[in-house]
Amino acid sequence: MVPFFTFNPGPSAVYPAVRQYLTDAFDDGWLSAPHRSEKVTSLVRQTVADLKTKLNIPQDYTVLFTGSATECWEILAQSLTPRRSFHLYNGDFGEKWLKYAKALRPASTGIAFDVDEVPDIAALPFSGEDTDLVCITQNETSTATQLREGFILSLYNRLGGALLAVDATSSLGGLNLKYIKADVWFASVQKCFGLPAGLGVLVLSPRAVAQARLVNDRAHYNALPAMLSQMLNFQTNYTPNVLGIYLLSRVLADREPIKAMHQHLADRAQKLYDFFEQATPLQPLITNPETRSTTVIGLKGDAATIEEIKRKALEVGLHLGSGYGPLKNTTVRIANFPAVPDAAFEALVQFFAKEFPG
Ligand SMILES: *Cc1c(COP(=O)(O)O)cnc(C)c1O
Repeated sequence: MVPFFTFNPGPSAVYPAVRQYLTDAFDDGWLSAPHRSEKVTSLVRQTVADLKTKLNIPQDYTVLFTGSATECWEILAQSLTPRRSFHLYNGDFGEKWLKYAKALRPASTGIAFDVDEVPDIAALPFSGEDTDLVCITQNETSTATQLREGFILSLYNRLGGALLAVDATSSLGGLNLKYIKADVWFASVQKCFGLPAGLGVLVLSPRAVAQARLVNDRAHYNALPAMLSQMLNFQTNYTPNVLGIYLLSRVLADREPIKAMHQHLADRAQKLYDFFEQATPLQPLITNPETRSTTVIGLKGDAATIEEIKRKALEVGLHLGSGYGPLKNTTVRIANFPAVPDAAFEALVQFFAKEFPG
């Protein structure tokens, strides 16, 4: 059998061990376990504890489960934004977040920045006096860019009264994020956790929890005050994705600590950028090394070449991710996620060396 590897950045490659976890979930009765039983609440408690230790999330932060990252966008508008949010974006996901926020809180605003640009924090048009939430996308999956730790730290230092919310959907679980430097972080499990979709993880600082209690949203089934009080007993106000939580617990138990994971992904990304900067038919989409993503590698070329590359790659069992939105035909995206094995990247480099020798 020809090995098959997918580099699609979401839904992305799942760990091969997921096959066994699914069988175990069935055999051990997780699929019909009542969600208020001791069996499930201990699982939730253990999973939250493992998320904190394995990912270096501060002990005084709160972890909640949602259905997706998109749901988190709405929860934040509903429950943490009585007035307006301010959004900084350079791609489709960040822009969509602004759109969802505006639909619920029309006074929300945002500005776009260039993919090769590190935004000037002093010049950002928001005031901590009348802004509830400043929203950024740590890793913009659509443009293969990221905002680095130093940037987030400086932004955190100029918030005034606002809270900082970070969409880390395609990096949380892969990178060693500095949770202490923002109030809200969220992701869904089909990216860096190497799991099937259907579960979101929402992480709140003590400041964000206090703000949620103050705003006291009671108008939605997924309002934060209700979610927070249920989570005190490791429960949810609706029947949660117990299978998803079970799979997450298994993945976390089998994983190396996030620091080692981060280093591995950073080394792999560097090798790939170096390789594609040499004479290959594709070039890195992002020219500024400062803004290039670690977990999603964007490559550009002309549409005909890209089509040929994708077709030939598929013939040898390599599924490259398409570009996103307006970049669909002129870029490919390579997920550098933890569940994509080193062997896949070796096969990818060999494919280019053989089919497109410089
Ligand atoms: C994938 C992705 C989302 C959406 O995730 P869902 O689980 O489909 O809601 C949001 N933001 C970013 C940055 C993403 O990569």
